[in-house]
Amino acid sequence: MQKRAIQDWRIRKQILDEQKVVIIPKMWDCEKNFWLNYAEKVCGYKPIFSVNKEEKLDHYKFHNNACLFYSGGLESALIAHQQPELPKINIKDHFEWTNPIEGSLAICGAGLGYKVTTYGGELYDGGNFKEEEKLVGWEYELTVEFAREWEKYSDAIFQSPFWLIEKNYLFKVAIREGVTFNSCGSNKGDLSYWCGKCDKCKQIRQYCYANNIKDITKL
Ligand SMILES: [Zn+2]
Repeated sequence: MQKRAIQDWRIRKQILDEQKVVIIPKMWDCEKNFWLNYAEKVCGYKPIFSVNKEEKLDHYKFHNNACLFYSGGLESALIAHQQPELPKINIKDHFEWTNPIEGSLAICGAGLGYKVTTYGGELYDGGNFKEEEKLVGWEYELTVEFAREWEKYSDAIFQSPFWLIEKNYLFKVAIREGVTFNSCGSNKGDLSYWCGKCDKCKQIRQYCYANNIKDITKL
């Protein structure tokens, strides 16, 4: 992982922990403004920056074009199906859970040297996330604004083709095109396991039922 990613990770973590004083490497004001705006949007506060003069904010070095963060869920499976040329990075190889806060993916993709990081982001739907995952940054990191600000700050592109697309439409396309995916909220990595009881399983079952197609949660 590149030095810059570790620096960004450290700053982001301090802000998510709502540290009053956030230690940062030497950086330009416009770079500081990125984090000020971030703290405001994500946690609603203004941190005080303490600059570590021994350390300078590094640059990302891009030696790869584009990648896709893949979880096996509906959105990323659909992107992998539609853009098979994109190298897949398994989210589980880098994060402990399959729904990490999106900003982590932006940092990780750039830190692995990818100019363009693609992920299967959907707009926040208000459900199915666990409290302990501390998803404070979730909504802002899912916005086009975050991606635009991130690009100015890091020079890396962070994008989801599905930001503005309705989930039902994605189901329809995935099922029609025979894409293998798993959205079960209780799934621990086995793409064929559907608990049948969680919100996601129920949602998909209802969709299949309403559209008169085979219930894929029973595969
Ligand atoms: Zn389930």
